[in-house]
Amino acid sequence: VIPSLILPSCLILFILIFLVSCATAALPDEIPQRDIAELLISDPESTSKASGDYGNLVRVTPSAVFRPSTVDDIISLVKLSNNLSNPFSVAARGRGHSVRGQAMAADGVVVEMVSLQAGDGVGIRVSWNPALGFFADVGGEQIWSDVLKTTLEHGLAPVSWTDYLYLSVGGTLSNGGISGQSFLHGPQISNVHELDVVTGTGDFITCSKEMNSELFFAVLGGLGQFGIITRARILLQKAPSRAKWVRLIYNDFSKFTRDQEHLISLDNNGPNYVEGSLITDNSPPNNWRSSFYSSLHQSKISSLLKSNQGLLFSIEVVKYYDDLTANTIDEEVEDMVQDFGFVPGFIFKKDVPVIDFLNRVAIGDDHKSEAHPWLNLFVPKSAILDFNDAVFVHIMRRHNHTTSGPILFYPFNRIKWDDRMFAVIPDEEIFYTMGLLHSSMPDEVEIYEKLNNEILEFCEKSGMKIKQYLPHYKSKEDWVNHFGPKWDSFQEMKTKYDPRMILSPGQRIFKAI
Ligand code: FAD
Repeated sequence: VIPSLILPSCLILFILIFLVSCATAALPDEIPQRDIAELLISDPESTSKASGDYGNLVRVTPSAVFRPSTVDDIISLVKLSNNLSNPFSVAARGRGHSVRGQAMAADGVVVEMVSLQAGDGVGIRVSWNPALGFFADVGGEQIWSDVLKTTLEHGLAPVSWTDYLYLSVGGTLSNGGISGQSFLHGPQISNVHELDVVTGTGDFITCSKEMNSELFFAVLGGLGQFGIITRARILLQKAPSRAKWVRLIYNDFSKFTRDQEHLISLDNNGPNYVEGSLITDNSPPNNWRSSFYSSLHQSKISSLLKSNQGLLFSIEVVKYYDDLTANTIDEEVEDMVQDFGFVPGFIFKKDVPVIDFLNRVAIGDDHKSEAHPWLNLFVPKSAILDFNDAVFVHIMRRHNHTTSGPILFYPFNRIKWDDRMFAVIPDEEIFYTMGLLHSSMPDEVEIYEKLNNEILEFCEKSGMKIKQYLPHYKSKEDWVNHFGPKWDSFQEMKTKYDPRMILSPGQRIFKAI
């Protein structure tokens, strides 16, 4: 028997892995339930893959990756760590689409959630009950594109999405999950009925607004700090069949935001999706987020861009329809935008199946070798004019609108977010998301980081109460600032559900004890 209570955690891991390689050796008694040692893999190829993410900015090597085939395997791993005097850290990895190492674990174990798909995971199951109507029980390891495909087979679909669907359910629910539907339905975390969670103590807990609600609200938007989501019960509605997809080009920021705010005030009779973005020379109208325009339209927009000092704004608005509304949809869309202040003649329309619209974002392989020093902010409505003037007009122009990637800017209604969750948003009824989705050559990252820092410094100096989405900080003080009045309960929940501080260390909020 290995005296695991007195050995350091990395040594225990090493011994476990060694035991696997000598298949005949006896396993330590401390491994609960079933032999999980064989699921711990430490070959350089596997650990190297878990050392990076989509950002290509951080590399952190784990001692091993863990490939669970059941939820019990995850429970066993977390319990094993808890039983050690020096616990090892455990990071669930959805698809590693974080950009700052949030799903990494230095000298710890990265749980490759995807392996549950080949094993005995929850899968994607569509059901109905009188209290909830239609819903899907979805494994935390599943990706949203598979959720879409499966639910569409039943004529149903979730209501709130991310732009890109190849993200894991557990990963986006740990952050928020935002897109153009959030103004109407809230972020993805507002559309969950129930969760199964393996906490940092290895307890398996089912929670909802009514049952173990404290854990439910902590986990949604909780940055992976309180438990590993193994099942989420997602609200479904009848799937729409087609989408009228419209883009409007503006040369005036005030009119652009005024019209976006009008659209998000329309509620159920208005649009189903509203986003917005900037167009600059380095952030052209067609990019990896979607290729919408024909080449003729692109050159028309390029000419307009030249006569507007290289800066335009674009609203993207979508209205779903089906056979019943097919005859009236064009008129409805015309009415919706008829008094809008876009540049005359700069309205572009498409009509596509809803599945094509939702699945519009694809990232190519070249993206995987680039670095992505993204900056995502939430900006309160009261600050957007100053933000535009300082950031879009001055700071970014000084940097020659350096960013090569989409620049998103669109509003949300605060009322659609649940304040009991730890997702942090500005304290105003309407706030905007700004996404600077830079793509950079790995040796040019500094240029983009300088731009990001200048923006953050401007916001701080001017007292603008912005918040980071997909936050990344280096110091505890910054995290305390980020959570503001929620910090004390964030810490309390951590002490309750992950007292040894082993989960998602890549967020760099707590250190294992
Ligand atoms: P990972 O990066 O693997 O993990 C993220 C965090 O969650 C880590 O801390 C991890 O430990 C934790 N985690 C992972 N799985 C679980 C689980 N089952 N239980 C508990 N914790 C877990 N976000 C939006 O909101 N809207 C968008 O439109 C959007 N588009 C994107 C497009 C691209 C191309 C990329 C790269 C990212 C985009 N994101 C978007 C950001 C995305 O939501 C985050 O990167 C998120 O982390 C999801 O990625 P993932 O599933 O790979 O999670």
